[in-house]
Amino acid sequence: MTQAQNGKTFRNYIGGQWLDASNGAATPNLNPANTQRTLGTFPSATRADAQNAIQAAHDAFAAWSRTPMPKRGEILHRAANWMDARLDEIGEALTREEGKTFAEARGEVARGVSILRYFAGQCMEPTGDVYPSASASTLLFAERVPLGVVGLITPWNFPAAIPAWKMAPALAYGNTVVFKPAEITPLTAWYIVSAFEQAGLPPGVLNLVVGRGSQAGQELVENPKVKAISFTGSNEVGTRIAATVAQRGGKTQLELGGKNPIVILNDADIARAVELTVQGAMLSTGQKCTATSRAIVVRELAKDYGEALAARVKQLRVGDGMQSDVYMGPLVSADAEKTVLEYIAVGKNEGARLVTGGEKLRGDEYDSGFFVAPTVFDKVTSDMRIAQEEIFGPVVGVIEAKDIDDAITLANHTRFGLSASVVTRDLNLALRFMREIEAGIVHVNSMTAGAEPQVPFGGFKDSSSGTREQGKAAREFFTQWKTV
Ligand code: NAP
Ligand code: MG
Repeated sequence: MTQAQNGKTFRNYIGGQWLDASNGAATPNLNPANTQRTLGTFPSATRADAQNAIQAAHDAFAAWSRTPMPKRGEILHRAANWMDARLDEIGEALTREEGKTFAEARGEVARGVSILRYFAGQCMEPTGDVYPSASASTLLFAERVPLGVVGLITPWNFPAAIPAWKMAPALAYGNTVVFKPAEITPLTAWYIVSAFEQAGLPPGVLNLVVGRGSQAGQELVENPKVKAISFTGSNEVGTRIAATVAQRGGKTQLELGGKNPIVILNDADIARAVELTVQGAMLSTGQKCTATSRAIVVRELAKDYGEALAARVKQLRVGDGMQSDVYMGPLVSADAEKTVLEYIAVGKNEGARLVTGGEKLRGDEYDSGFFVAPTVFDKVTSDMRIAQEEIFGPVVGVIEAKDIDDAITLANHTRFGLSASVVTRDLNLALRFMREIEAGIVHVNSMTAGAEPQVPFGGFKDSSSGTREQGKAAREFFTQWKTV
């Protein structure tokens, strides 16, 4: 399949039909490990295409919202099974278009399957509550009903899992969807939409527009037929979208950036702390919203931990994520590579000490891709830009703390609050960290990344707009109350 994709032309999916962009524009989908290899061409959807998709979703809403929920659940189950039967194929497509290793990509697709199954199961759960009434002849109840057309705008870094965790609850609760994936990862999006097509989802219930955020995306944001936008991406784009949608009375859910700390306390097992730091910082080439970008270590352990961390990072094998011995793949794009290299220069100028990495990798294996060495800085202080701004690459800064009080203060010294991790064997210290850390997701002796579909996902402070995704929390956003 993947070889065949090279010359293949992919289309938008609108009203149950696969259609070219209305202006005929198309762009090749590049492999960031080797840009000589492409994965077919994809449309550059225009505003007119997005309008057609919104209209198709609008027209499909009445019938879909009246389809019994268990029947909607059956379609989600069938879509999950279709994807589950193709984990290798979709995982390979994801690696080839986004760059993360095949093991991670396949795992992400499997997670997408679990998410669809979880929400298929939710289709058998109660949809409201019955209340006692002051009147003897009144049956008083409140029911969760769908919103209408919802727009899903997603980033490239989890091109299977994030669309799945927005789409599954949106559809399960009876909404119709226009899905605008990141322009640079459209193939995984194509697979997910194909799964629903093959599962028998009626035409118009789920529509795909592949194209630039400023065109197709902006139409979703401005069009009054779109009742809600669920967005994951950068703070800059997300806050602008929220302002525009609010002005026309729509609803938004934002999942934004992170600057996630791992905090290493005196009694930590150093080898374990290093492994958790490396996994959190370097898997997916550091391009997770929940990636570890600050390692806050108490002074007593700083030397031993720092040496062990540097030694481990130097061993990491970087390369094409399809090779089974590779730990870390390329950055997703030339832009991403440029940003990461700029931040590395900023770190040096600010006086942080470059311990290892810090450069673009060269050589036959690397020259056609976006490869940056896994990078560690130490002597980082909390006011530096590299300790405050999201880098979104394989870069971790080590910050020394005097003691646990100082460590927690430093961990909280950021506008973000997505995830945080503590490494300690002391239960009281772990409990104190859980209470005092300002983060939506807290890990104890596990890396900052990682979540399961049945629990709420999202952050504090500037990392999120408040309403959580996944688990039962997803219902809050994708439905409204009707009291009868
Ligand atoms: P981005 O530039 O904000 O893009 C996200 C999505 O928004 C893309 O589909 C993009 O389309 C679209 N978009 C851009 N401008 C738009 C506009 N004016 N109107 C409507 N849509 C628009 O973010 P990114 O660079 O793809 O992703 C990286 C960021 O996502 C990081 O900051 C990361 O922390 C965050 N993230 C957060 C979470 C979380 O759950 N908290 C998870 C993953 C990632 P294009 O295709 O044109 O770019
Ligand atoms: Mg972007």
